[in-house]
Amino acid sequence: MLLEKEPFYKPVGQELEIFEHAFKNRLPLLLKGPTGTGKSRFVEHMAHKKKKELFTVACHEETSATDLIGRYIIKGAETVWQDGPLTKAVRNGAILYLDEIAEARPDVIVAIHSLTDFRRILYLDKLGEEITASDEFMFIASFNPGYQRGFKELKPSTRQRFVSVGFEYPDTDAEIEIVRAESGVDHDIAKKLVKIGVKIRNLTELGLTETVSTRLLVDAGKLIHTGLAKRLSVEVAVVEPLTDDEDTLLALKDLVNLMI
Ligand code: ADP
Repeated sequence: MLLEKEPFYKPVGQELEIFEHAFKNRLPLLLKGPTGTGKSRFVEHMAHKKKKELFTVACHEETSATDLIGRYIIKGAETVWQDGPLTKAVRNGAILYLDEIAEARPDVIVAIHSLTDFRRILYLDKLGEEITASDEFMFIASFNPGYQRGFKELKPSTRQRFVSVGFEYPDTDAEIEIVRAESGVDHDIAKKLVKIGVKIRNLTELGLTETVSTRLLVDAGKLIHTGLAKRLSVEVAVVEPLTDDEDTLLALKDLVNLMI
């Protein structure tokens, strides 16, 4: 997919520079960080900037090497080979983005090994073919380290194939700018939403698996912008997605009501 309009992206660290250098050196990039911190947006932004085609695969537990590389499909009376997104990206010198790589099946990691080291070769076993990636091809993956503690980890041998960039929540001013730009609310409301986000993030004693992401604040802003009541917007876009525990919900709703 080639994006027409430049996707808005507010840099939060040195990720733009790191990207450029990883690309120049043909090194794969791993974006680490909690959900909703702008990793996918960053990739879309960079793909646009570099005028590159972007293939994104949202990995889940059933995602296999075949899904990425390709498979034979039956077309009428014939069996024809169909390239998967990884093969297409390698052939076209595009960007491949594997979102949540740790979720994928282990054969995915095996399939990308030779592609993510100095060889930059993709083996198409079923076709008996190997393709060497052009200098234009770039491999990017994302990974959420904290989440589901322990069981979907990335092996050190895999992690060490990537240049890694940590994504965290932006600082307050940057986050206000993002919420404003993405939702259309004014500065005052964006500021209140970000304040709520920061407050809840600091409530570590609640033991939430995932805390308030920029995405949730943007969503709340969008609801407010189209006219939903402010408190209700925050309740449904920020508080409810965080937990199903009744006591925690009540405590968070009380807190939010005081803040907006
Ligand atoms: P991730 O891939 O880390 O889960 P996304 O890239 O999907 O997160 O970001 C979720 C939403 O949050 C985006 O659609 C965008 O509205 C907003 N967002 C988060 N960080 C940024 C940023 N730095 N610049 C612009 N928008 C951002």
